[in-house]
Amino acid sequence: MDTSLLKIAYSHENFRKRGHELVDQLANHLEAALHGKSNKVIHWNLPEDEYAYWKGFLENDDESQLFSEIVKHTTHVHNPKYIGHQVCPPAPLAALSGLISNLLNNGMAIYEMGMAPTAIERIMTEFICSSIGYGDNSRGFLTSGGTLANLTALLSARKAIVKHDVWNKGSTDDLGIMVCEEAHYCVDRAAKIMGLGEKGIIKIPANLEFKMNSSLLEEYFQKAKKDGITVFAIVGSAPSTATGIYDDLKAIAAFAKKHNIWFHVDGAHGGASIFSAKYRHTVRGIDQADSVVIDGHKMMMMPTITTALLFKSGNHSYATFSQQADYLLVKSEKEDWYNMAKRTFECTKTMMSIQWYTLLKTYGQGIFDEYVTTLYDLGHEFGEMIEKDDRFEMVVKPMSNIVCFRYVMDAMNKNELNQLNESIRQQLLEEGEYYIVQTKLRGIHYLRTTIMNPFTTRGHLELLLDKVKDFAKKLHLKH
Ligand SMILES: *Cc1c(COP(=O)(O)O)cnc(C)c1O
Repeated sequence: MDTSLLKIAYSHENFRKRGHELVDQLANHLEAALHGKSNKVIHWNLPEDEYAYWKGFLENDDESQLFSEIVKHTTHVHNPKYIGHQVCPPAPLAALSGLISNLLNNGMAIYEMGMAPTAIERIMTEFICSSIGYGDNSRGFLTSGGTLANLTALLSARKAIVKHDVWNKGSTDDLGIMVCEEAHYCVDRAAKIMGLGEKGIIKIPANLEFKMNSSLLEEYFQKAKKDGITVFAIVGSAPSTATGIYDDLKAIAAFAKKHNIWFHVDGAHGGASIFSAKYRHTVRGIDQADSVVIDGHKMMMMPTITTALLFKSGNHSYATFSQQADYLLVKSEKEDWYNMAKRTFECTKTMMSIQWYTLLKTYGQGIFDEYVTTLYDLGHEFGEMIEKDDRFEMVVKPMSNIVCFRYVMDAMNKNELNQLNESIRQQLLEEGEYYIVQTKLRGIHYLRTTIMNPFTTRGHLELLLDKVKDFAKKLHLKH
């Protein structure tokens, strides 16, 4: 076999050369994006056009243009006018540390395949556990995303609370979880995967402020019980995705304790407020949760995808996928914390702990406080700006960096306003100077923003509001 291609592919000199070129190119991109030198967040293309472009590129174009074309054809999260989805502009150093993982490629399932990242993972999850307020028996691990982490936590909950051994023997009883109707869809999906079915997802209505209405918990619990459903867990959102509103974790904790069910906190987005002296109050009661999920790629400046799943009592994390019904390892001599795949859904996973450790080691824990506090402050400020302008209506006073609002006009009815706001968002997307998203809440179409970039300023937000008004006027005239 001729192996000339392999020799080129693995050439360290090629790696060095291409690596330097790539870093230079990405540094230029960063400079342009962060400092407003590029005028667009997104160069919008229809999916079919994008598909045709890359098919053509594969056949005709010069390979040396590949990386720069990818940059051009993606959404620039480092641009301060990126105010859309909840993924962060990664700290460049965290991105660089990802390269280590990509090249060294230790698979992390067992200790021998990732000694440093395994030990580092323990240190980082201990750090997060103690920031939550958990004690010595707490344990955690990193896994691939909030979706998977929520599923894993609910599997742990079922194993811990339900008397029948569902993992080994299959389900016999009707089981259920309680969650606010505003929760992220992945909780619903997790429950379906676990075979709970529609009736096993007891949706608690939100109040006018889009927060779980905790005063209804007892009533819904008793109704489920009467219907023959054994509720084993309740999920609180910290915050819920669409509106950024935090559930009352203290109230949920008290309810879970009373009924001896598992309390899980989905803090994928805003669990990181444990690091903010100013906003820690949003997660009051989180230390009483049996499990907590926090995404690194949302409010902790890391590249996708890395999520911490923390357990107040570490034994439960060992029990999730074990064949035995009882599993007590924490603080015993047999605790093999270093064989990660026993506790994670994944077998192979990336060396993701390095990114967390790099940020902590290089900048100290203050970096997480700065990031969360800056963005939440700006969320509140944006809320005040919208409130003052009678062309706009806000869905609810923000509790985080997620702000939903819409353009309003007296002469228009609900459907016309929905259409108008949908068109405004489409115009923004096609123009590409800003990137924001949209959501429908209680039948009303809103523009949705998440301020993820700590270099977004009040000035950028003022310009966005002006732009929305301009588009609204132009669209209105067309009708
Ligand atoms: C983003 C989000 C998720 C999903 O997390 P992924 O990391 O995208 O899988 C779950 N819950 C909440 C509240 C979220 O904001």
